[in-house]
Amino acid sequence: MRVRQLSRALAATLIGSVLLSACVKVPVTGRRQFNIIPDGLMRQLGASTYTSMLSSETISKGNDNAKSINTVGNAIAKAANQKKYDWEFKLIQDNDTLNAWCLPGGKIAVYTGLLPVVENEAGLAFVMGHEVGHATAHHGAERMSQQLAALGGMAGLYLYLDQKSELNEKQKALIVAAMGLGVEVGVLLPFSRAHEKEADIIGMMYMAKSGYPPAESKKVWDRMEAATGGGIPAFISTHPSNEKRKENLEEWMPQAKKRYERNKLSRNTQQTLWTNADFSGGGGGGGGGKKK
Ligand SMILES: [Zn+2]
Repeated sequence: MRVRQLSRALAATLIGSVLLSACVKVPVTGRRQFNIIPDGLMRQLGASTYTSMLSSETISKGNDNAKSINTVGNAIAKAANQKKYDWEFKLIQDNDTLNAWCLPGGKIAVYTGLLPVVENEAGLAFVMGHEVGHATAHHGAERMSQQLAALGGMAGLYLYLDQKSELNEKQKALIVAAMGLGVEVGVLLPFSRAHEKEADIIGMMYMAKSGYPPAESKKVWDRMEAATGGGIPAFISTHPSNEKRKENLEEWMPQAKKRYERNKLSRNTQQTLWTNADFSGGGGGGGGGKKK
């Protein structure tokens, strides 16, 4: 059973590293976070969840859209500079879903429904940067750590790892519950507002470092609002309001612009590549759809 395997992996990996520093620095923002979950475990969790999540989807490949996901994904991966990540970029054929995500370890998926909202390469770079930001800032691991601490998980783990100790049933149940949090809490739940804000900043910095104009980030949220009629798409369900988001991005814009000026790409990255018209009518099967 998957949960049990994960529990064992969690326990085994924790033996070596639970006593190491629990306070970790987030990239870009430099915020200090409480994190007791080893990144190796998160990457493992990310890889297995990726396989199971993609198994029920149709992957769009071998077309211009899929190529764009790869081009932009590789650029963001380079900016994120995570040597232990095994990056994968997949375009999911689903025109009705405005979503994208990145699991720990660099496992990325973008739904075709999101393409008209990102509209161009720069917009795509921001969204992919944002999703990668959640992973490199260990937001899932931070949430798992908080949950473990809240459940008395730390004390429980020491007992659990000490084979000589005797646990009562209640303690065992507590630990199992904490372990079982893995995929749900670490990967699948929507992120908090604070995490969303931080992912926006990291995403904008990654896009700028990759040579994409950071001002496009704010336009993406405008188009998102227009596309959803002010409603809330699944992947931003706990996100701050559009206005708050733009204020937050504006604060970091001068720094992002400096980075962009140093790395600017020579091609036009704001040219419209995707519009809703390309995706209405259900035709195309994921091929083409690109404006020349
Ligand atoms: Zn997010």
